[in-house]
Amino acid sequence: MALLPIISLPDPRLRLVSEPVAEIDAQVRRLMEDMLETMYDAPGIGLAAIQVAVPRRILVIDIAKPEDGPKPICVVNPEIVWASDVLSVYEEGCLSIPEYYEEVERPDRVRVRYLDKDGKTQELEADGLLATALQHEIDHLNGVLFIDHISRLKRERVMRKFTKVARRTATEV
Ligand code: ZN
Repeated sequence: MALLPIISLPDPRLRLVSEPVAEIDAQVRRLMEDMLETMYDAPGIGLAAIQVAVPRRILVIDIAKPEDGPKPICVVNPEIVWASDVLSVYEEGCLSIPEYYEEVERPDRVRVRYLDKDGKTQELEADGLLATALQHEIDHLNGVLFIDHISRLKRERVMRKFTKVARRTATEV
């Protein structure tokens, strides 16, 4: 297994729409293992392949508390097949937008159909934090970031901040 570099704002690749996975082969499984290791190391509760610069519809999630041990979920080609009308608000963050947190309103429950790491179709109904994490990560596969769900004023402020940081880092090297 290997740690993969996580790309961050304003990297334009975060806006790519990821491609579906045609076959879950050894290479895809290896990528999912590396993504899990990268996510645990960060640490984070979810990671989409595009965040490690791979534009494919793959994500990993683990919302288990550390004391309960790892409970990873590997998700390929996910599709939200149902979402509740009831919404709930969570404070979200993103490994590609480090140290920025903001409240986001999303459907409280979702049903997601996907392929697991063995290529079997699975359906998962989630609420609470898992529902939020799934929607956040599936957004990544469509080039959407959680800051797209907040006010334009706040989004422009965070974009400016990260663009400035990127420019400063570029001139330092
Ligand atoms: Zn994210």
